[in-house]
Amino acid sequence: MKKEISNWGNYPVMESNERNFSLLEDIQNYVRTTRDYIPRGNGRCYGDASLAANTICTTRFDKILSFDSGTGIFECQSGITLDQVLEVIVPKGWFLPVTPGTKFITVGGAVASDVHGKNHHIDGCFSHHVDEMDILLADGNLITCGPGKETDLFEATCGGMGLTGLITRIKFRLKKIETAYIRQKQIKAANLEEVLRLFEEYKDYTYSVAWIDCLKKGSGFGRSILILGEHATASDLNEQQQKAPLALPKKKQITFPFSLPSWVLNTFTVKAFNFLYYGKNFRKEIDNVVNYEPFFYPLDAILHWNRGYGKKGFIQYQFVLPLESRQGLIEILQRISDKGLGSFLAVLKIFGKQESLIGFPMEGYTLALDFPVRKGLFEFLDELDKIVLQYGGRLYMSKDARMRPDILRAGYQHLPQFLSIVKKYNPEGKIHSVQSDRLFLKSDQ
Ligand SMILES: Cc1cc2nc3c(=O)[nH]c(=O)nc-3n(C[C@H](O)[C@H](O)[C@H](O)COP(=O)(O)OP(=O)(O)OC[C@H]3O[C@@H](n4cnc5c(N)ncnc54)[C@H](O)[C@@H]3O)c2cc1C
Repeated sequence: MKKEISNWGNYPVMESNERNFSLLEDIQNYVRTTRDYIPRGNGRCYGDASLAANTICTTRFDKILSFDSGTGIFECQSGITLDQVLEVIVPKGWFLPVTPGTKFITVGGAVASDVHGKNHHIDGCFSHHVDEMDILLADGNLITCGPGKETDLFEATCGGMGLTGLITRIKFRLKKIETAYIRQKQIKAANLEEVLRLFEEYKDYTYSVAWIDCLKKGSGFGRSILILGEHATASDLNEQQQKAPLALPKKKQITFPFSLPSWVLNTFTVKAFNFLYYGKNFRKEIDNVVNYEPFFYPLDAILHWNRGYGKKGFIQYQFVLPLESRQGLIEILQRISDKGLGSFLAVLKIFGKQESLIGFPMEGYTLALDFPVRKGLFEFLDELDKIVLQYGGRLYMSKDARMRPDILRAGYQHLPQFLSIVKKYNPEGKIHSVQSDRLFLKSDQ
């Protein structure tokens, strides 16, 4: 059915013939007879990665195929969402090995972007926990691949943005938990230097993330709240929590009712938000035990919060810089602060070592910021791209809607190898997206 679709940033918007199947044979028949398509999960990437003239949406292809609650091996169709997975595994004492900041993505999307969480420095990316998966190639054939089988296909699919084929089945390993709670520590950092020092000091914590006020100048430049966490044990819980340590959190969701006019977001409102967010923690340090929902998915409590950025949509700009490139981080934050183009959410995380074909993480710091689409934004982001490259970093394709091909090439050293594997499995270039057309130029595929 032809309809207007976009991803989480609501930019760009396009008309697509979107098909949604629940049977493998139907998807197979469709890909055999169709060109110019891209697999699509739940549309939670921000930009244009899952947009094309034809999209195969997997959200009805969402069955659990097996779950061994003794070993924590989980096998599913690719369209199941992390939300649906959590509902089944948490009561049995298991958790996702890696989760992004929203649970409304599909498992297929988690592999195709090779998502990272707050534990990358300890547990790596989602693909590090995948044992096996099936890929439906452009010619309609299914191939099983994994870390020790058809490894070129496996490596090019993890982080490959859907270009090798449609992932249909995934088998991955879960993480054992004693409770559904997180022992959380929040520490206020007066500036950027302090928060980087704290990341280093607390690097043994499994989960860490910092929220940065990117508009603050002077000695408070880069002031932040660092949030650390560990899965709580039964003895960490209070009496009430101990009655049902693995209970799922109650669904409490509100919906953002309409798109805000774009003038609502300005330096003044962003400064006010940041002031309140930073000020809400009166004490330097807070220790408490919270359910996994507010810890991992604070924004999921407000459905459609992306409408807050207005009808023109927004860009999430996420880059990573090597550990030693602190100066690059300072320069970028400085530019943003000077420009007054503040973002409500500037999220800083640390990445551990990673060698992959096309995956985003590398050892260092990653920062993600939201910018409403407005005049002059793209030119400004082009300038930031240059700083990212100058300091040896790269941008995350899953958040991207505007990067130029030369920026991608310079950031991803194994890109030619990746493209030759894509060509092997998708020789006629039947599978491509608006993003791949922009980044790889059709002739490369
Ligand atoms: C609030 C929020 C927070 C986020 N936080 C993080 C974070 O912390 N870390 C992180 O890494 N990401 C994060 N993301 C990004 C998100 O996790 C990824 O973009 C993810 O890939 C989205 O999955 P999806 O199912 O919605 O797929 P889509 O957005 O529809 O597609 C994403 C890509 O996956 C491909 N794809 C989807 N399904 C398949 C399939 N079955 N087979 C082959 N290819 C497929 C598509 O072609 C596309 O290239 C966040 C997103 C949001 C909205």
